[in-house]
Order: sequence, then structure tokens, then C-alpha cells
Amino acid sequence: MGNADKTLYTSDTIIALATPSGIGAIGVIRLSGPDAIALVNEVFYGKDLSIQKTHTIHFGTIRDGELILDEVLASIFIGPKSYTKENVVEISTHGSAYIIESIIKLLIRKGARPANPGEFTLRAFLNGQLDLSQAEAVADLIASNSQASHQVAMQQMRGGFSHELQHLRDQLIHFASMIELELDFGEEDVEFANRDELKALIFQINRIIHRLIESFEQGNVMKNGVPVVIAGKPNVGKSTLLNALLNEERAIVSEIAGTTRDTVEDEIIIGGINFRFIDTAGIRETLDIIEAKGVERTHEKIGKAKLVIYLVDPDQEVSEIGSQVEYLKGLGVPFIPVVNKKDMMTPEFRKEVSSVKYQESRSGAGNPETLTSDLRPPTSDPRPQTSDALFISAKNKEGIDALRETILQTVNLHAINTDDVLISNIRHLEALQKTEASLNSVLENIDNPVTSDFLAVDIKQALHYLGEITGQVTTDDLLETIFSKFCIGK
Ligand code: GDP
Repeated sequence: MGNADKTLYTSDTIIALATPSGIGAIGVIRLSGPDAIALVNEVFYGKDLSIQKTHTIHFGTIRDGELILDEVLASIFIGPKSYTKENVVEISTHGSAYIIESIIKLLIRKGARPANPGEFTLRAFLNGQLDLSQAEAVADLIASNSQASHQVAMQQMRGGFSHELQHLRDQLIHFASMIELELDFGEEDVEFANRDELKALIFQINRIIHRLIESFEQGNVMKNGVPVVIAGKPNVGKSTLLNALLNEERAIVSEIAGTTRDTVEDEIIIGGINFRFIDTAGIRETLDIIEAKGVERTHEKIGKAKLVIYLVDPDQEVSEIGSQVEYLKGLGVPFIPVVNKKDMMTPEFRKEVSSVKYQESRSGAGNPETLTSDLRPPTSDPRPQTSDALFISAKNKEGIDALRETILQTVNLHAINTDDVLISNIRHLEALQKTEASLNSVLENIDNPVTSDFLAVDIKQALHYLGEITGQVTTDDLLETIFSKFCIGK
């Protein structure tokens, strides 16, 4: 199991509350380690837990001397048939903070040790229950708050890419040992590792790695959500729109230009994907931006976004809209032009604002199927729809569904119900990029007999980086970094 010292972690019995702290109907206290069952048995009355079968639940009381602390259920998991592969007991208590604390303190007095963050999952990893990427996925799964983030985490936890990488790594190990052997023979001109086969394997690995690297963008968006900025001049209706999107009266809408909300971030889920509105507190400023007061600041604000909703209203000069659109195009962030207050719009304004060239930077724009009746020209106006902009009324909540649809299309995510294996973790991305670089270096040196020393070194590097992902190669520092981000009790 890597370089980390297993015995450091697994010789004692750890305890932690596994449910959130605070008052709940029940609380679950979890213990893992060689003495888990024996320790609980010392304070449990009703049955002898030490003779029970694995995967059984037992009713009894927990007592501290004469004092009954609670009536509980104790679930017994005998290692290796448990999450950590050690003996595990889960005690379900009534959800009083007092009861939970008393029971934990009692068991610590009996010899258990308070668990560190993520220590249960760390033990699961060290004992071979999960590989490292799966262990990381446990944390992601717990943190998931949308269908998309749940899906990436679940897939990764169930083995996603790690089985695939493991298989490729095994094949590469075979070649590494052949090449080592060649080196041992030194001067004698022998070739144990068939170069063509090695090349074919590397091409195969690189293809897979490349696909995974490419998947990061989508995986990351699915896990962390899409940062969105609503940009527009004061008073065009940014707060009202945010409000309509959030579908509740959370934004403070004001007649006075510049009065706006004080929340920092809000989220909506469209099609299972999380969209985070960033910088909503500074929503007013997002327009001074486009007024080119500080190009750098604009870049910085919009640069944080993966999507800009560019909002205008009929009070605005169309020439100004035109130049702001050019500006946005130059930034290279996808934007959705949205004309608000369509209830106040004159046919002239509609015509003019429709003639602005929004196109280039919008994917999926102008797709007629996505146009709702809101977006079609009024029946009195027989002109074909030429505009790329959406017409909405934030205040009357008209056109909001079409906007949601366009938001989803513009970020251009594949349907999220695919079985595609995705990576969503920056640590994995970096390790894959390093693996790819090492393998490319192998390919460069492969046909050159002079450099077979390098060949061995580069293959080892590639093996190292691949191993880092799944945890065949670990250091205490790496484990510390990963598991310290977990909550206690996980
Ligand atoms: P912000 O400064 O861009 O955040 O603009 P607000 O959301 O505060 O809106 C400015 C004003 O425009 C408020 O009085 C809103 O009620 C009004 N407003 C917003 N959307 C619409 C709309 O669709 N139609 C009309 N007529 N007024 C709107």
C-alpha cells in the first residue's frame, strides 16, 4: 500500500460522530479498529456483542456505571466485511448532543481515540477497500449538491477510471521490467522489450489519458458548477433577473440605480447542473466594467465566469450595446445577450437591437427549436426572427424558461446521463498531464539505442504519476493533504 506506513493508522480503535452535530432524531457514533466491538461491549447492556454475527443490529442500553445514558441500537460489522475492513460498530443513539458527547467520552475513557478528519476513509484506503481516487470520491459524494456533481462522484467512487488506469499501468510495468533487464545486460545488444508493442501500448495509454484530460473541463463543471456573471448597466434589471432565476424574492430590487443585494453567491440548478452567480454583490459594478473604466478589472471579473448574461434594456442606446457586444466578444467568454423590459419596448427598438451582430461567440444560438413564443416576432410583425438576443421581462417573469434553456445550451455540456468516464479532480488532471509528458518522452527515445537508459527512467516516471492517481504511490504528505479536507467521522 504505497509508502505510507499502514501500522501508523490502524493499530488502535478510533471513534467519531458520523452524523452532523446538532440536534437530530438520531445520531450515529462510529468506531473502527481491532477493539471496536470489545470496547462497546464493555458499556453495552442487553446482549453480549462479542459473540454476535457480522452485519447484525442489537438493541440495548449504554451505561456509565449505574447511569443509563441511552437506549441504542448497535450495528456490528466484523472486519474485513466493513467499510474500513476493520471491526466496526455503529451506535445509533437519540440525537441529543449531550447523549452523544457522553457516550463518546465514555468510550474514549475505555480506550478509543478520537478520529482525525477522514480517518475512517483513510483506513478504508490503507486496507485496500478503496483506491485513492475512490476515497477522494467519497468526499465529493458527500459534498455533492446536484445531479451532475453526484453523478461524477458516484462514478469515480465506483471505480470509474481507476480500473482502466490500473490495467494500463500493469502492462507498462511489464515493459519497464523488460527494459530494466536489457540494461542489466549492458553492452550485449539484446532487446527484450518489443519496441513496436511498447509503442502500441503507449499510443493506447496516451489515447485514454488524453480523453481523460479532455474530460476535466466537463467533469469540473459538473462537480463545481458553472460560474455565471450577469453584466449590464445600472437599472437594466440585473437584480430582478437574478431574482426571477432564483425564483424567489431574495434579491433586493430597487428603483434607485445601484442599490443592490448583499449576498455573495447564489446558485440555480438547470438540467441537473449547478450555475453559480458570482459577484452578485458587485452586480452594479459589473457594468461600469463594460463602460471601459478599467479594462483590467473587467477582465478580472468576467474572467472568473464561464458564462456571461449580458443584459440591456430599451433605455439604452443601441450603438452603445453594439460596442459593448464587441467588447464581450473580445473577452472570449461565452455570453448570452438578453434584452430586458420587453414590456416597455417599442417596435423600433426591437428592430434596431435585433440588428446587432451577437452571433460569433454563442454556441447553439439561434436554434429555432429553442425559441419560445416569447422570442418569436409579434404576429403583427411578419419579419423573420433575425436576432440572436433573447427578449424577456424579468419583472413579469416572461422568457425566463427560454433563458434557462439557452444557459444550458450555451455551456454546451453533453447530456449528463452519459456513462463517459470523467475526471473532476485537479490532482488527477496534473498527474495525467505529467504521465502524458513522460510517455511522449518515451516515444521520442524509443528508436534510439543510445537513449535506452532514458527510456527506463521515463517509463518509471509515467508509472509513478499513474500510480499517484489511484494511490499505488503515496506519501504521508499526500495522504495528509487529501484526508485533512474530509470531515471528522467520514
Ligand atoms: P439593476 O440595477 O440592473 O440590478 O436593476 P434592478 O433589478 O434593480 O431593476 C431596476 C428597475 O427596473 C426596477 O425598478 C425594476 O422593477 C425594473 N425592471 C426590472 N425588470 C423589468 C421589466 O421586465 N419590465 C419593467 N417594466 N421594469 C423592470
